[in-house]
Amino acid sequence: MIRPWLVRRAFRRQVDNLRRRMAGERVRPVPLSGMTLDADDVRIARAALRRRDDWFDPAPVRAFESEFARWNGSRHAFAFLGGRVALSACVHALDLGPGDEVVLPGYTCVVVPNALKYAGVTPVYCDIELDTYGPDLASVEAAITPRTRAILLHHLFGLVCRDYAALLELGRRRGLAIIEDCAHATGAEFRGAKVGTAATVAFYSSEQTKVFSTIQGGVAVTNDPALAARMAEFQARSPDAAPARLDALLRQVIIQHYSHKHPQGWLLGEVMEVVHGAPELISTSAEEVGGQRPADYGCRMPAPVARLASNQLGKIDRYNARRRETALHWDAWCTSRGMAAARVMPESKPVYLRYPVMLDPALKADVSWARREPGVELGLWFRGSLHPVEGALPGLPNAAVAVASCANLPSLLN
Ligand SMILES: *Cc1c(COP(=O)(O)O)cnc(C)c1O
Repeated sequence: MIRPWLVRRAFRRQVDNLRRRMAGERVRPVPLSGMTLDADDVRIARAALRRRDDWFDPAPVRAFESEFARWNGSRHAFAFLGGRVALSACVHALDLGPGDEVVLPGYTCVVVPNALKYAGVTPVYCDIELDTYGPDLASVEAAITPRTRAILLHHLFGLVCRDYAALLELGRRRGLAIIEDCAHATGAEFRGAKVGTAATVAFYSSEQTKVFSTIQGGVAVTNDPALAARMAEFQARSPDAAPARLDALLRQVIIQHYSHKHPQGWLLGEVMEVVHGAPELISTSAEEVGGQRPADYGCRMPAPVARLASNQLGKIDRYNARRRETALHWDAWCTSRGMAAARVMPESKPVYLRYPVMLDPALKADVSWARREPGVELGLWFRGSLHPVEGALPGLPNAAVAVASCANLPSLLN
């Protein structure tokens, strides 16, 4: 069932490619996502599309969870169909609810405060620091009230955040749980341990733009057996994904491999979209952007996604090493332009999901220059305090600076 509108779109895009070539732009600037999806992942997706009777078999999910726990250095891991769902599992584990407050940076994805709000928890935003875009210690302290139960910290772009050790210590001192958002930083280390292992609870993402990709996916971890029991309870109650959603996800693996990774992707990516019908798989729906809980929220990870996740995990160290090599290239690129290189905190090992740079706001507003030189897709995380909602939250001056100026460069160039 080849759809005529897809063929017309493919034709229009090829005309666009030609126009770009004539304007001196790269036909295919280096993309920001999909670069860890290889031919072996495509084989897994194709096999799953052929054989659908074991899509909800728990065995591959248990296997991935124990592989992830072992690799990460966590005692317990639970897999879901989204990092945001893994955060919901963390919120459930901590028994947070109405009347409770969580302090979190006002420079994140909207799905993060949403996971708190779905449980009736009040998000209280603090400002970030501009060294690594993590929560600023003084701003976190100022946001704590008698109702605060937890501090949520993150490691954006795969950089271990500046105030990490101090925030962990603050949590201990004030008796507050630490929720660690490791969505950008799977595999990053601090003092020889993976990020997320020192927190009360932590979560990771294998969404299509993250360190490892299963298009959608996430993992929650903890070392505490009582919290793990509550995560398990949350997972046991989680629904299975609709087969149509899983079908679209598996086709996206194939499409993204061909369009982002394959050397002839400028053509084959288009062909694959025509063949697979360009299934819509929305990362964050309009209702989520508006703060509403979508009907299909909260699914556990299905078997084919777990098989993909295991395969991706087997390659993650190699890809992260390559990301660190690319960062050296961007360090030199920044220095030669009189710009500050990305900040790496002492005793930390970043993974550089993307390489962040501070630009003149005009250069963030019009990104076409990046397609010509250096020939990459410029990442715009985040154009708002609560991505993809645009605009900065009031009263957070550093977050406002980052919203206006912070852009990011791809860390896997081939
Ligand atoms: C992507 C992301 C999440 C959520 O992960 P999903 O797998 O997309 O649900 C959470 N926090 C940050 C900072 C993210 O970028």
